[in-house]
Amino acid sequence: MINIAIDGPAGAGKSTLSRLLAKDLGYIYVDTGALYRAVGLKFSMKGFDTELKGDIAEVLGETAVDIRFIDGAQRVFLDGKDVSDDIRTPTASMMASAVSAKPEVRAFLLDMQRGLAQRNNVVMDGRDIGTVVLPNAKVKIFLTADVEVRAERRYKELCEKGQQVDFADVLEEMKVRDYNDSHRPIAPLKQADDAVLADTTSLTFDESLELLKKIVEEGV
Ligand code: C5P
Repeated sequence: MINIAIDGPAGAGKSTLSRLLAKDLGYIYVDTGALYRAVGLKFSMKGFDTELKGDIAEVLGETAVDIRFIDGAQRVFLDGKDVSDDIRTPTASMMASAVSAKPEVRAFLLDMQRGLAQRNNVVMDGRDIGTVVLPNAKVKIFLTADVEVRAERRYKELCEKGQQVDFADVLEEMKVRDYNDSHRPIAPLKQADDAVLADTTSLTFDESLELLKKIVEEGV
């Protein structure tokens, strides 16, 4: 199976670009952030806040996260319910970032991610795909952009979805997540030694996609 790993900070355009790249290649696109978001949603439904004080293992013991592909698109199920839309709020983002620092949570989701990559040609995006989940991926890309540019893109995306948000809050939230994701002791966000760096700060969306296609063509 051919595995392509795409890592990088929030708002770098990973999911949209990875989805289109996967479509172009005829591969499955796996958005691993959605798995952490679903776990975060479960903890918030259980009354936890981002400090996550309580018995993590106990909650995970009664949690079922599942990915299904419906018409080629990934849907995420939490305890049998499709939560693909519910996980896209700023609160869910912060809860995802919080739960993702817990080793029990990372272990809980690891086999599912590896299993998908063993059975399918995949473009998988996340934070630790090239470093931890798929260290033998055929192509590894570290996709990034300046934080202001990423916040701007995320802000527009949320506005288009009709969510009432403040740009300053989006920027602040992105900085906090960048910090948390890259400073946690387990599977921190970092470029794998053998990953190709793709910085999209001054690139349009189409240019970014072309860049990724070129990196993949050269690497596969
Ligand atoms: O990619 P997305 O922004 O949806 O991810 C939500 C959160 O899940 C990230 O901020 C990160 O903390 C966590 N995550 C992770 N490892 C991954 C994917 C996401 O820790 N492979």
